Amino acid sequence: LVSREVQAHNTVVRFGSAAVGGDRFAVIAGPCSVESEQQLLSVAEMVKSHGAMALRGGAYKPRTSPYDFQGLGVEGLKLLKQANDMLDIPTVSEVMDVSQVEKMTQYVDCFQIGARNMQNYGLLKIVGESKKPILLKRGLSATIEELLLAAEYIYDAGNPNIILCERGIRTFETATRNTLDLNAVAYLKQHTHLPVLVDPSHGTGIRELVIPLSRAAAAVGADGIIVESHLNPCEALSDGHQALTAPMFEQLMQELKPFVEAA
Ligand code: PEP
Ligand code: MN
Repeated sequence: LVSREVQAHNTVVRFGSAAVGGDRFAVIAGPCSVESEQQLLSVAEMVKSHGAMALRGGAYKPRTSPYDFQGLGVEGLKLLKQANDMLDIPTVSEVMDVSQVEKMTQYVDCFQIGARNMQNYGLLKIVGESKKPILLKRGLSATIEELLLAAEYIYDAGNPNIILCERGIRTFETATRNTLDLNAVAYLKQHTHLPVLVDPSHGTGIRELVIPLSRAAAAVGADGIIVESHLNPCEALSDGHQALTAPMFEQLMQELKPFVEAA
């Protein structure tokens, strides 16, 4: 169902005012985690003012250590809804578990399936039955074929609104958090009609590398990027080292202008 052989034209996935897979290079930005009203609203306002199409922010966080910040839960979802209402910006947030799907429906516009859940087939089937667009991230060690088959689960369950996301894979390299697989982007654009995003934040784990890899994403033909940003990264409760500061986000948008504004 997700193959280009079945559908030649590109699928455009829309949620609120956002469209991924169309003429414009999509930029989805925001913090790794929703931390507080002040934190979320200020970063949302900043990314929107520079042209972000949608706001990201996790309320349920898949952390490696159980002792790390796990997200604000429903309180975080309410803050995302508040940002959406006040700033008129659509939102993306991760659903980690089947039990969260129903309650998240009223608060967010697009469900993210995180890398660690790409092969959680029970969850894929449930979000496949929902009406929300799904941003499906590639698993840490998943092949491109496995990513496409995960998308196939969602599509087959009745939901054709799927955005694929290359977010870096595990390799022998340790200098960067992950190895961003740009081959995958070019390959996916040839073999599926679904839109493909790049996540240069998790792909590199280093804020100084986010802008160069965002340029690379645009050059290789990605439909957009999802990037982490924080007004005070040193105090971020998760992924601060890969969050773009406000001046860096502004620079990013400046550099991407020809793609973001393409007709
Ligand atoms: C995230 O987007 O903050 C996240 C946890 O991403 P991933 O699932 O790609 O690690
Ligand atoms: Mn993160």
